[in-house]
Amino acid sequence: MVFDDLAPRPWAGATAGRRDGDDRCPGALRLHEAADGWLARVRVPGGRVTAAQALALADAAAEFGSGLVDITSRANLQLRGLTADAAGPLAGVLRAAGLLPSASHERVRNVLASPLAGRDPRALIDGSALCAALDRAICADPVLAGLSGRFQFGVEDGAGLLAGADVDVLLAAVGPDEVELVVGGRRTDRRADVSAAAALGTAEARAFLARAGGAWRISSDRGANRGHMTPLAPGSCLEQADGRGATTALVPLGRLDAAQLRGLARLAPELRVSPWRTVTLVDLPDARRAADGLRALGLVLDAATGWHRLTACAGLGACPRARLDVRAAARARGTRRRATDPPEHWSACPRRCGLPAGEVRAVTWTEDGIDADGRIVPDLTAALEAVT
Ligand code: SF4
Repeated sequence: MVFDDLAPRPWAGATAGRRDGDDRCPGALRLHEAADGWLARVRVPGGRVTAAQALALADAAAEFGSGLVDITSRANLQLRGLTADAAGPLAGVLRAAGLLPSASHERVRNVLASPLAGRDPRALIDGSALCAALDRAICADPVLAGLSGRFQFGVEDGAGLLAGADVDVLLAAVGPDEVELVVGGRRTDRRADVSAAAALGTAEARAFLARAGGAWRISSDRGANRGHMTPLAPGSCLEQADGRGATTALVPLGRLDAAQLRGLARLAPELRVSPWRTVTLVDLPDARRAADGLRALGLVLDAATGWHRLTACAGLGACPRARLDVRAAARARGTRRRATDPPEHWSACPRRCGLPAGEVRAVTWTEDGIDADGRIVPDLTAALEAVT
């Protein structure tokens, strides 16, 4: 069991953050205005996207926006640079592709799962099926439309990839047909068989809403361990239980363009995006050939890559608050780092959007200069030197 380090203990009802105002979390229907146009965040539970859905997203990104698609820190997809009138036509495309099953719940379908869910021979349960069941249960519960867009569900299939994930309500497999409820990172003594597990998760989310008093999320006491997941190494290949293959590649700074997304759709019947900004292709008859295709698309398959755990905020041209082109600096940094370096995040203002949880080397623009992991330096060149 992957949560053995956590003693079972009842959740005392602790909550995190106050919902003082409106939940401004972007969605597929509620777009957010950025410096590069409007932005739509499309929830993809479990990070799962079929080839047909990837094509639909690529076409929509190119037709209504800049063509850029970001993988978010919660394994959702963001279409950038959309026109002001894109919301209606985009919703039609997403609905037709099965990416918008519920208008009322579209921003609360936040379900993390292993990119190998349903394919991993090490797993105790079919995490893919449970993820889909949980998504249906969330959408079928009118009360859960009241959750914030930050509330996070998760499914851990027993392979351990989500151990330590920053998840409010986690369904963690403890046996071939048994799932335990983990709330805010704390084990509970509440278990169910797999067929009843989705209901266990939604009941806990309802209980949170009833007790939350306006909080965004359930708090965690996991401290520095919070948010530390076990990533799939770029270039890793897995032989699925059915003999087909799965292969994983890293997307530098989590940004794809429409051509890359179309290319991915041609390589596999289904792809899975992850919080580590990776794409995993599953159900491959020939994983090596797919790996060549991923390289040709500009994705990274080197486990020792410096892009590993390197992130940056939207930055100049995409956010009106940005003061510097931190993405260009982070791209330069990606060629210098080692995969073993600590997680690193570059931000163009002190809000530090997208800063990962846990121990992170942060480079941040401030009024006094650039804070390069605690040292104030005058410019990005000096910041690159300071963190190298
Ligand atoms: S950290 Fe600042 S500049 Fe970067 S996306 Fe957030 S608000 Fe914009």
